[in-house]
Amino acid sequence: AKVYLYLMDVFYKVFPDVSEVSNNEFISQSDNYDYYKYHPMPEITNWMTQIAKDHPDVVTIVDYGQTYEKRTISLLKIGLNSEAKKKAIWMDCGIHAREWIAPAFCQYFVKQILQTYKTDPKMEKMMMNMDFYVTPVLNVDGYMYSWQDNTTRLWRKNMSPGPSGCNCNGTDLNRNFNANWGTIGVSFDCCSNTFCGSSPISETEAQAVTYFVGSRKEDFLCFFTIHSYGQLLLVPYGHPNFTAPNYNELIEVGLAAADEIKKVHGTHYTVGTPPDVLYANSGSSRDWARQQGIPFSYTFELRDNGTFGFELPEDQIKPSCEEAYEGALYIITYAHDKTFSGAMNTAATALWTMLLAVVYCTFLKAYL
Ligand SMILES: [Zn+2]
Repeated sequence: AKVYLYLMDVFYKVFPDVSEVSNNEFISQSDNYDYYKYHPMPEITNWMTQIAKDHPDVVTIVDYGQTYEKRTISLLKIGLNSEAKKKAIWMDCGIHAREWIAPAFCQYFVKQILQTYKTDPKMEKMMMNMDFYVTPVLNVDGYMYSWQDNTTRLWRKNMSPGPSGCNCNGTDLNRNFNANWGTIGVSFDCCSNTFCGSSPISETEAQAVTYFVGSRKEDFLCFFTIHSYGQLLLVPYGHPNFTAPNYNELIEVGLAAADEIKKVHGTHYTVGTPPDVLYANSGSSRDWARQQGIPFSYTFELRDNGTFGFELPEDQIKPSCEEAYEGALYIITYAHDKTFSGAMNTAATALWTMLLAVVYCTFLKAYL
């Protein structure tokens, strides 16, 4: 065996190309991607192309909007082909430029579900019943700006210019959605980090989500928008005067998801509405999605609690993603089972009723 290994070693040294070719048969390009590093936008775009190439039967890229600086906003649609009408899950990351852990999480999430469904019948079933729409970076302009240098690293907003007479750039996209827009927890000063824009969905990035999700809102069971930091699961609404009709269920499911998160690395997540656990706000995409009728709408505020804040070190990417994945998976599974197991139960009940009717008729025939 030693001689054989030695000969193979010499062989590969002489013909290095051969070892590379034989490797590529088993390892697709996206398997070599480093999920535990932060990636600049061009690398994320290449990764999306590669993921679609490596999984042509389950992944498609959908371009659904444009940024202020005319860059394309794209998502990965992931699901197994099915004859039946499917439901859907929404996840967007990187709506706030500086929250780098968020795009890292979207990429991890995609990798994870694509790996899992091949061996896990539950995930396979969920991918049969539902399509996952994942936007790794929504605020593309802002994300690229946050990569420019040290002085731009903490940029939050998009890159559109302020109204005339104001010299600052950028609207807070998560204050620009048409949900109690401009009423609380916002600023009308275009230099502020929470500038809500000149009108609801004045920003092309907010328009992209509004039109894409809005045009198929009945399909969506979950709407997840991923942020950092604070370790929170936020439920609608940001305005203290309004309560979601399924508030109790949102909290219950959120608390159970927080339990799942804690099991992974012991990290504590707090669950509640923004006014209860953070601060009141308006015009968020989470509130907009709930108002559209999407039942399970959550904001994830990932690690940490302020030690590193937006500049979460790369060695925390893996544990952050692992724990948040379990939380998201819990909510997705809950929403799936509520929708699809319910339909199964109805079918089973109908079958039982029929069987009992047959037995009863046979009984009547025999005795009457
Ligand atoms: Zn944020």
